[in-house]
This record gives sequence, structure tokens and C-alpha cells, in this order.
Amino acid sequence: EQQPPRPHVVLVASPGAGHLNPMAELARRLVAHHSLAVTLVTIPDPSAGPKPNDSHSAAATLSSTATGFTTIVLPSVPLDDLPADAPIGTVLFELIARSIPHLRDVVAAASPPLAALVPDLFTAATLPLAAELAVPGYLFIPASLTALHVMRALVELHDDASLGEHRDLPDPLLFPCGAALRHEDVPVGMEDSKAPVYAQIVEEGRRYRLAAGLLVNTFYEMEPAAVEEFKFAAERGTFPPVYPVGPFVRSSSEEDAASRCVTEWLDRQPNGSVVYVSFGSAGSLSVEQTAELAAGLEESGHRFLWVVRMPSLDGQNHSDMGKRGDLSRGEEDDPLAWLPEGFLDRTSGRGLAVRSWAPQVAVLSHPATGAFVSHCGWNSTLESVSYGVPMVAWPLYAEQRMNAVFLSESVGVALRPCARVSDGVIGREEVAAAVRELMEGEKGRAVRRRTGELRQAADMAWAPEGSSRRAMEEVAERWRAAALGREEVRQ
Ligand code: UDP
Repeated sequence: EQQPPRPHVVLVASPGAGHLNPMAELARRLVAHHSLAVTLVTIPDPSAGPKPNDSHSAAATLSSTATGFTTIVLPSVPLDDLPADAPIGTVLFELIARSIPHLRDVVAAASPPLAALVPDLFTAATLPLAAELAVPGYLFIPASLTALHVMRALVELHDDASLGEHRDLPDPLLFPCGAALRHEDVPVGMEDSKAPVYAQIVEEGRRYRLAAGLLVNTFYEMEPAAVEEFKFAAERGTFPPVYPVGPFVRSSSEEDAASRCVTEWLDRQPNGSVVYVSFGSAGSLSVEQTAELAAGLEESGHRFLWVVRMPSLDGQNHSDMGKRGDLSRGEEDDPLAWLPEGFLDRTSGRGLAVRSWAPQVAVLSHPATGAFVSHCGWNSTLESVSYGVPMVAWPLYAEQRMNAVFLSESVGVALRPCARVSDGVIGREEVAAAVRELMEGEKGRAVRRRTGELRQAADMAWAPEGSSRRAMEEVAERWRAAALGREEVRQ
């Protein structure tokens, strides 16, 4: 006997591994656990360019995870009329705005019955399409609920402001958990109310209120105060309902030769002995900072696995320290060539440096991994917590400084080394001290214990009766009902 077609949900991911990875995992679970059909729409990254051999491109991520759902890449849109120095945020918002007609075509062609449209935090401009089609529009937030709190605070600050008037966020801004966020740690784009991208962020935050609900990649125990605060806001009708439905951590699936080389090296290391060092899909350090990190790892005496990315070479404090002259042609594009002289030889046997990318979930879930020097991207954070790996917080961009404050001062799963006041560099002694403290010290022990507790809570959240899984089912049930015309759509 033929089954009726499953209600169909269309997810929309903005460019970047940090947005795509958790959304692909959301897609997989909606199909596997919630009786829905899913199309995941991606928007090509205009800065990425064609990289035919890049096994970590969006297409590769999807082909390794896309089981049971359809993926569609929207056509690229021209952006060459934008000024060459337009900030990345401005380019992103423009890209999304220009992609809406293409998305409309995809959604219109999606097989019925349509149950919901779910854009992510940067594609909220597509929410009106949900209204056009009379389906519920939900937002997916691959960042923390605390980050959403800051976004909401930003919008509320401008509620009674006249158009074009912009105000700075209070300094410090209080998190729901009570920790204080100093101005220097607020997310990039929110620090200067006069910057053009600031107004665009306020506008994006305003769109969040159009959502029928927001799905957030977090779980109750990670941010209990923020969950309670948003519950209260929804009850008062000042913000749409928020559903903590995470953590969406994909299982390790990368099987290429480079990944195998990393896991085979880990197999040969003692349990809990390796410090994994990685700064996400886009983070880079200056040449000087790279040298200090290398010296600090060396001095710490611990084993390490370092994903070395190309150093940043432009702008203030980003000199090449005379290194470029030492490199032969062809070496300049090799991130490992920028490491200090002799470092790889001196640490050979106890350290492994890999170029640009590692199979992170496989690394964090490996028993040899004992700590993570992390840029505090939210996905990396959830992956680390889900596998019980404590962190050294080393934020670089986006909302990572804010995450570092939250993780070290409130959640208690990270230690944060101090940068030098003079030049913002984290010195070698500080690196070595932070690594040793986390691996061997008393404070480190408390952080390791706390990470272990949260790991259990993360496991429970998606157990059959877990809080996140129930929250997801509650929303999925609404969507299924909407698709069958049984529930009125709130817009
Ligand atoms: N990632 C990875 N290998 C790397 C760097 C990143 O697999 O060498 C993955 C990581 O597991 C995470 C995502 O890419 O799922 C990065 O997201 P995150 O939010 O941590 O940081 P972003 O790259 O967005 O700054």
C-alpha cells in the first residue's frame, strides 16, 4: 500500500562550514526521526572560487552527509558591482537579497505538501517567502542562545530610535547567566554603531521577530539562564518561541587519505594525551603569533595535533617577520613552511602538524585527544563538549570572543590565556602555561570535570526522551499539521 507523501521542509544555509554542517545534521535528523522530507538549499560562497580538488567544499560535506534528503545549490549571483573593500557582512547580506528570486523558484517547485521554510541566521531576509506561500517560517540559529540574546538586545536598543539613528551596546552588556560582556568582546560588526554593517545587523535582527519560532543549536544545560529568559519573553509575546534543539554534531565520516593519516597517528598516542589545535574553517594567525604558539606548544612538553592554516600577512601587525625571503618559490603557499625554523624536527614524534584541515569530529571523538586549543566557533564548541574535551579558548573573529567569555567565565569548560596588552599577541609562556594548566593543573581539573558533566547532558539531550529531541518533535508535529492544513499558520 502506498504511503502518503511526507510533509516537505525547505532549509536554507548561508555559506560556510559553520552554517552548513549543523544544518545538514538537522536535515538528517528531520528525515530519520521526525517523518519529514527535506530539501537543503545552499548558497554558494562568493569568496570561495572554484576549488575542484577541495574535498572539504560544501558539495563534499553534503555528499558525505546527505542521506535521505535532497540538496540544491542556488545559482551564483553577480556581486561585482559592490565596492572592492565592502565588508564581508555587507557582501553576505547583498548575496542573500539577490538570491531570493532563485530560492522562490526552488520553494515553488518543492513537492507538496510543503510544511515549513527554515532559513538560518543570515538568511532571515527569505522569511517573507514563507508568508507568501502560507507556510510557517522558522529560523535556524547555528550559534548560541547567548549570542541570540545579544542580537535581541541590539534590536531592543533601537526599538524606539528614529530611522538611521544608531546607539552603541551598553558596556558591559550582561548575559542572562550574569557574566559581563565588555565592549571589546562583542561580536564583530556590533562594536561600532557607525559602521555600515551595524545597521544591516540591526535590520537582520529585526527580521527574527517575523519567525514563527527559532531553532537553536544548543541544549538546556549549556545555557539554562538564557533558555529561561527566552521562555519568559515568548510568554510575554516580546519574542517568538525559541527551541533549544541541539547539539547537532555530525558523526565522523571523513574517509580520505589525509584523514586516515591523522587518525592513525592518534591511534598510536596514549589516551587523553594529545592537545588538538585548530582555528576553524577560516581562522588565521599572524606570523609572529604562529611562532609564539609553536614555541608555547614545544615548551609545554605535551603531545599535539595542530591544523596549520596560512598566516595572515596583510594589515597592521601582520608583517611576514622576514620569513618570506627564506621561502623558495612554491613554498609560500604551504602553511607548514611558515612555521619556525626546525620546529617540526624538534617536536617530531610528539607533534603532528597538518595542512589547513583535519577531520575534526574524528579527532575530538578519539580517546587520545585530551584538550582542544580552539577558536571557539560554536560548532567546534559543541563538538568539543559532546566528546568531553576541555578547551583553551583562543577566539579570533565573528562572535568568538563572546563565546570565549561565556565558556571560560560562565560555563566553565575552557581556560582563556591572556594576550599581551602591547600588541595583542599571546606569548609563548602564556600558551605553555594554559596548556599545562588544562592538562595537569587544579583549575584544569575543574574544567575537565565540568566538561565531563556537560558531555553527559549533551548525550541525554538527544536520547529518546531527551529535552532537545522532544522540542524538535514538538515543532515537527506543528509542521506536519500545517502541511495537512490542520493548523493555522502564524506569521
Ligand atoms: N572543521 C573541520 N576541520 C577543520 C576545521 C573545521 O572539520 O580543520 C569543521 C568543524 O568540525 C566545525 C566547522 O568545520 O563543524 C567549523 O565551524 P565552527 O562554528 O567551529 O567555526 P567556523 O569555521 O564557522 O569559524
